[in-house]
Amino acid sequence: MFRTDAAAPPDSDRADALDSGLREWRWVVPVLCAILALGAAAASWGYVEARRIDAQVQNAMTERDDARRILQAAVDLESSSRGFLLSGKQDQLADYFTALKFFQTEREKSVAMIDRGLNALGQSSLTDALEVAIRTRARRIEHFATGGVEGAVRGTQAGEGKRATDDIRRLVGVFVADREDKIAAWRAALGWRQTTVVILVIIGTLTSIVALWVAHRIIRRRQQAADVASNASHRRGQELAALVEMSELLQSGVEARDVRAVVAHAAKRLLPGLSGWLFAFNNSRDRLDLAASWKGNDSGAAPASCEPPDHFAPSECWALKRGRPHHGDASAAGGGLGCVACAATGNGLCVPMAARGEVQGVLRIAFGPNSPAPTADQTALATALGDSVSLALANQALRERLRGQALRDALTGLHNRRFLEEVMPQIEAQVARDGQPVAVLMLDLDHFKSINDTQGHATGDAVLHAVGTLLIDQLRRSDVACRYGGEELAVLLPGADIEQAVERADVIRRAIADLSVSAARSSGSIPLPPVTVSIGVASVPQSALRLSDALKAADAALYDAKRAGRNRVVASTARSAALSLPKLEVVRSASAE
Ligand code: GH3
Ligand code: MG
Ligand code: MG
Repeated sequence: MFRTDAAAPPDSDRADALDSGLREWRWVVPVLCAILALGAAAASWGYVEARRIDAQVQNAMTERDDARRILQAAVDLESSSRGFLLSGKQDQLADYFTALKFFQTEREKSVAMIDRGLNALGQSSLTDALEVAIRTRARRIEHFATGGVEGAVRGTQAGEGKRATDDIRRLVGVFVADREDKIAAWRAALGWRQTTVVILVIIGTLTSIVALWVAHRIIRRRQQAADVASNASHRRGQELAALVEMSELLQSGVEARDVRAVVAHAAKRLLPGLSGWLFAFNNSRDRLDLAASWKGNDSGAAPASCEPPDHFAPSECWALKRGRPHHGDASAAGGGLGCVACAATGNGLCVPMAARGEVQGVLRIAFGPNSPAPTADQTALATALGDSVSLALANQALRERLRGQALRDALTGLHNRRFLEEVMPQIEAQVARDGQPVAVLMLDLDHFKSINDTQGHATGDAVLHAVGTLLIDQLRRSDVACRYGGEELAVLLPGADIEQAVERADVIRRAIADLSVSAARSSGSIPLPPVTVSIGVASVPQSALRLSDALKAADAALYDAKRAGRNRVVASTARSAALSLPKLEVVRSASAE
């Protein structure tokens, strides 16, 4: 199954998501604070109320007890006076006087308070009742003192004292009942307020726990968001450093193999643990060749059996067809359409690499069969990697082209003398390392001046071009042919000893002699007479120990070939330090055929 540019969120998006998650919870904090504040206010109010009601209850109880003491004093007043009247003993009046004294001290305070209560209840005054009772008892005692029991009975109305005491009992009873009612009512109110306070305290405690939990969660998520953001920025820094380092390395890498080494190194840093391949266009741009590959770590995504193709056609690649990164997963259920690389490497991302308006190749990153789709970060990194590499490849190709132009002769298509001088030390070192010989051929066209003179300079150019093309066809990839100057050519044959070189020189001589070149005329083209060449051959180590000396020896042999009649191959076999008089041997000539 193929998915299109599917991407998981990058770290920055994760940080945003965590942040927005926090935003969703933001309303909770003020709500919890409000609940806590309300709970605290309600609990405080309940506490104050409880204190107030408790004070009222205590006050009412005091008032009730005062009323009872007053009643007790009234009863004592009556029974004490009656005892005196019955016995005539003075000491029976002790409680009488105590009660009188009590009434005097309590009149202002308690009795007045009870009067206010009774008044509120629509009752008569206790003060009045007490006065009646005191007055009646006092009068009886007074009359008893003057007239005995009879005097006392005569001096007062019958039952007057008892009625006064009953009145007091009734009034006190009303007052006490009222206070009892109030105490009961206040106690009930106190009860539900205390229950309310307890409920509010429980709610407040639970709210505090929830608030603490939410705060903990918010802090943890904020920490996570900060961690993710910091990790993301740290990784960004590392990725940027890797990209910068890669660009620097790619700028300084002059050869294609440098580019391949750098891309493998950078890919491992930018996309750690992931395997990948770099496919680059071939020269004819009809095929993408595997140019580089790298493997992730042990947990790397590339399946062990994954064998990328050596090459595939551009038309097989979806990323090239679409001109943008393409995520393909041929390993997904049901398989899917895809290029050869996709089919071979399973779940992966193909990134087309374009620079200077030209696609250089494709970068393929493998994610493994069970991995999720590449993230936007990974896609961006793979694209940045592809861009840098494609630019480097384009630069490198441009450099190669410019270098090729600078080191190649335009007329013959062969390398120029500068290239020969550059390449000679390398070839010399290589053959010395391998213990191989290297041969040098020096070629000079025979009587070339007369071609110019008789057929024109343009015809001479055409002959030179034809000879150059022939040489390119005749030589191997490891051979180096260059235009040494004018119509003089030099060829290096690494690995060839002098005998082999003579053989090959003679093949070239014959091929040039068989070359058919035409001269353009207004009437049409006319065939030229055969062109011949003289060739001097030398080698390291048979002719000289140094390649530059072998070149001189070959030149001397060429001179000898000219002198010997041209259209022939002459080999220099003797090694001479000065090379002034090389031993020359005419090996092949036209006359010998
Ligand atoms: P020989 O057999 O002794 O080599 O005789 P030659 O005529 O070839 O003598 P020489 O090597 O002295 O002459 C080389 C001539 O090649 C002289 C020059 O005009 C001609 N020549 C050199 N470079 C070019 C070129 O680029 N184009 C053309 N058409 N002629 C060139
Ligand atoms: Mg010549
Ligand atoms: Mg010449």
